[in-house]
Amino acid sequence: MLDVHIVGAGPAGCFCAVAAQKAGKNALVSEEHARIGEPVHCSGLVSKSALEEMSDVVDYRKISINTIETATIFCADEHVKLRPKKAKAILIDRGEFDRMAADCAQSEGAKFELGKKISRKEQLKSYCVVGADGPSSAVAQMFGFPKIRRVVSAYQADYECSVQEKHDAKLFISPRHFPGFFGWVIPISAQSAKIGFAVKPGASPKKAFAQILEKFGAKRPENGFGAAIPIETRGKTAGEFGKYSVFLAGDAAGQVKATTGGGIYFGASCARIAGRVFPDTAAYERGWRKEYGTDLMMHSLLRRAMNISSEAAVDALLGVFKLGMLDRFINEHAEMDRWGRLASAKSVVDYAKLIASAK
Ligand SMILES: Cc1cc2nc3c(=O)[nH]c(=O)nc-3n(C[C@H](O)[C@H](O)[C@H](O)COP(=O)(O)OP(=O)(O)OC[C@H]3O[C@@H](n4cnc5c(N)ncnc54)[C@H](O)[C@@H]3O)c2cc1C
Repeated sequence: MLDVHIVGAGPAGCFCAVAAQKAGKNALVSEEHARIGEPVHCSGLVSKSALEEMSDVVDYRKISINTIETATIFCADEHVKLRPKKAKAILIDRGEFDRMAADCAQSEGAKFELGKKISRKEQLKSYCVVGADGPSSAVAQMFGFPKIRRVVSAYQADYECSVQEKHDAKLFISPRHFPGFFGWVIPISAQSAKIGFAVKPGASPKKAFAQILEKFGAKRPENGFGAAIPIETRGKTAGEFGKYSVFLAGDAAGQVKATTGGGIYFGASCARIAGRVFPDTAAYERGWRKEYGTDLMMHSLLRRAMNISSEAAVDALLGVFKLGMLDRFINEHAEMDRWGRLASAKSVVDYAKLIASAK
C-alpha cells in the first residue's frame, strides 16, 4: 500500500522520501527525467555546516570539487572581501548529490519511477501527495496553491578561464548591470569556473556579463543553462483538498535563500519535516515555518535591501558596511544559512564588543 506519492526526485523529493521511509511510510517518487540529477540546473555551492547536517543521507566528501573560503563582493567603485572563519562553502557535484540522495531513499525502501511526468490528478497514486517538482510546480498548479510572484531569471555555464584565487568566489552586485540579483564567478579549479548571473525578469545583463567573461579570459562554455530561481516562499505550502493531503517542498514551496538563490539545504530540510509528519498538513506548515521561517525571512529582508536601484547607493552601503565593521563581524560569526540565529541577543552583544574593541 502506497502512503505518499512524491513528485520530483531533486534534493527535496529524495530527502522527503528518506524521512517518510524512516517514519514507516511507503513512498513512491516520480521523476520526469530518465536519469536522476540530470540535467543540472545549479552551481552546487553549499555551506559546509549544511552538508554536515545532510551527511546522514549524502556523504559530501565523495562529491566535493572545491572549497570556497572567501568571497569578494564588487559594486561600481567599492568592493569588500569576506573571510569568514567558520562559514566555509563546498562546491559539490550537484548531479551526484541527487543520485546519492535517491540511492539512500531506495535503500530505505522508497520506489522510484523515472521518465514519468506528472501533470494530472488521475496520475497520482496516493491521496497524500508531495510537490517537490521545482519552481513551476505542476502539483501546486493542480491544487491551486498561491503563486510565487518574486522570481529571478538565471544563466550559468562552466568556462575555462584564469582564476587567480581558487578558493575565492566573486559576486558582482550592480543595480544597473544585474538588477534584482547579481553576477558570479565560482572557481571549480585554477583553470575553470562556474560563471553566471541572475536578474529580475525582462532585464538584459548581456554587456555586463560579457565584461565579466572578458575580465577572466573565459572561453569554451560547457553545460550552459537558463533557469528560474524563486525568491519568496509561497503563502501556503500544504493543505487538504477533498480527499487529498498535499504538501509542497523545496523550490516548489519557495524554500530558497532570497539573498543567493541557494535552495538545496532549506529545501531538503523542510522536505524532511514533511516526510516525518505525513499526512498532517498543518503540522508541516507549522513545523517548517517554526524551524526555518525566520532564517528565510531574514534572507528575504536583506534581498529587499540589496534591491536598491542606484550604483552609488550600493557603493555607499558597502562603505557603511566596512565602516561599521560588519565585514569583521561576519568574518567572526557568519553563518551561511541559519540567519535566524544571528538575530539573537548574543549576536548584538558580540557586535557591540567588536565595536568597543576598535582602535
Ligand atoms: C543558476 C542556479 C544556480 C544555483 N546554485 C545553487 C547553489 O549553488 N546552491 C544551492 O543550494 N542552490 C542553488 N540553486 C538552487 C537549487 O538548484 C534549488 O534550490 C534546488 O535544486 C531545489 O531542489 P528541489 O528538489 O526543490 O527542486 P529541483 O532540484 O528543481 O528538483 C525538482 C525535480 O522535479 C522534477 N520534475 C519537475 N516537474 C515534474 C513533473 N511534473 N513530474 C515529475 N517530475 C518533475 C525535475 O525534473 C527535478 O528533477 C541554484 C539554482 C540556479 C537556477
